[in-house]
Order: sequence, then structure tokens, then C-alpha cells
Amino acid sequence: MKRAWSWALLAAAGAALGVGASLLQDRTTVVRASPLFSLREGSRLLADGRLEAGRVVKSGRLAAEVSKRASRALSAIPNELRPSLVVVDVEPRYGATVPPVAQLAYLRTSGSLVVGSAGEAASQAVWLHELAHVRLAGARPKGAIAQRLVDAIEEGIADYFAAALGGDAVVGSGGAQRDLRQPPPASASEWASLALEGVGTHRMGWRLAARLYERDAQGGSLLRDAVACLDGDSGLGAAPETPAGVVDAFLQACPEAGRARLAGILSEWLPLELMTPEIPT
Ligand SMILES: [Zn+2]
Repeated sequence: MKRAWSWALLAAAGAALGVGASLLQDRTTVVRASPLFSLREGSRLLADGRLEAGRVVKSGRLAAEVSKRASRALSAIPNELRPSLVVVDVEPRYGATVPPVAQLAYLRTSGSLVVGSAGEAASQAVWLHELAHVRLAGARPKGAIAQRLVDAIEEGIADYFAAALGGDAVVGSGGAQRDLRQPPPASASEWASLALEGVGTHRMGWRLAARLYERDAQGGSLLRDAVACLDGDSGLGAAPETPAGVVDAFLQACPEAGRARLAGILSEWLPLELMTPEIPT
């Protein structure tokens, strides 16, 4: 199905294109059923992770291919789960210390998707996973450990989103494929690594995604509830720097009707010692 991109609306809102991240935080100003979509070329990715917006493009071979892929992925997402604004930066120029994106990645600092020179190889599953990140742009904790734990939860929800909506248990691409029917084993040292930077949040999320997928491979209310936990303003922004506190704040941000089911899934996913509140000595 061909989607009608809101080019006219985009032209009218030209000034707003450079501030995608702030628009993302105000979903009430846009129509969710028809996400605003724009492709930018000549954007510049700075060393601190910020992105200087390039010019909006509407034509060209890569732009056409990217539009087609994004359109196909968005068509697979029900209206209520689509991100309201999708900004794609095609082959941005990178600062000296910024590793280039090969295919497709979500950039949290700008709220946009970055397409690399091998962007045409990004599969439907990869597009769905990255579009899930665009949608899951709600409140996040300030502390580093709390952030990493929520990042792992977000990766799990994004994988579940891709598998359920794409109708395929295998997500990711190339050497980073993750089969939600065969998650990797957990290890205590992996959980301890939450204290370190560069922790493998995809691998942790994989096991959470597998548990969600096992409960309902079609998505349904479980997927809607999981997305709702991370896509808006919530007390997660003020979560304490302890795993138990983060999980509690996460569950409080979830729809009440789905909270008990999600709490059960998280308790199976997290090791017991991380869930036990610390006893003051
Ligand atoms: Zn991801």
C-alpha cells in the first residue's frame, strides 16, 4: 500500500523540520495515523552526538529507496503504535570521533534515524526495530545504571515490536541476528556489567524480547502496553539509581491494566538479587 507522505504539510512546516526532537515530545500537535516523514541530506553528526540538520530531500535514488523501505515498515505498524514524526538523515557527515552508521540506526540525541552508505541493505525487521525506538521516546532516568537498565528494556521491547509486527521471530541483521525463540543464556557477570559503559543492552534485551514473544507472538495488548510504558512523560525521569527502583518506576509508567503481566515478565527476566531492595547496614 502506498502511503501518502505529508509533503505539503512538511513544506508549510519547514521551520519545524530542524527541531524533530522537540516535536516528538508533543504528540498532540500531529496526527498519529499519518506520521510526518522527512528525509534530510547533508546532515552533520557532531562528536558529542548532536546532529546538525541538513536540507530536506524529496528525490534521488537513495532517497527513493529509503522512502520505500520506511513506507513499507510504517505500513506494518498499526496506527496506534506508529511514531508521529519520522525524520531520516541520509548519509550524514561524521565528526572525526564518531563511528559511521553502516545501515540504519536511531540517534537518541536528535530523535532521528540515520541511514548509512549500506542503508539499502536494512531489512524490514531492522526498520521496525529502529522505528520502535523513534516511538519509545518518553522520559528516561538521569543516572547511568538506571539508564542502561531502561535501555536494555527498550531494546527488548523494540525487538518484540519488530518480531510481532514483522511476523518473524528473527530480528536484527547480518551477524547481529537475534532469534527470539532462542535467546542467549544469562550470566551474573553480564548483569553486573550494567555498572559499566558499553554494556550489551541488545543481548539483555534479547532475553526480555523472547519472554514477551513467548507470551504473545502477535503483539496485541501486550505490545501496546509495553510501548506505552516508554513512550510518554512519566516518573521514569526521576527513577532512583537502583535496579529495583528503576523497575518499579518503569511499571508505574505502564498502563494499569497491563502492569501485573509486565511485572511477572520482568521478574522472570531479571535476576532475583537485582530485584531485592538493599537492606541498610
Ligand atoms: Zn535498538
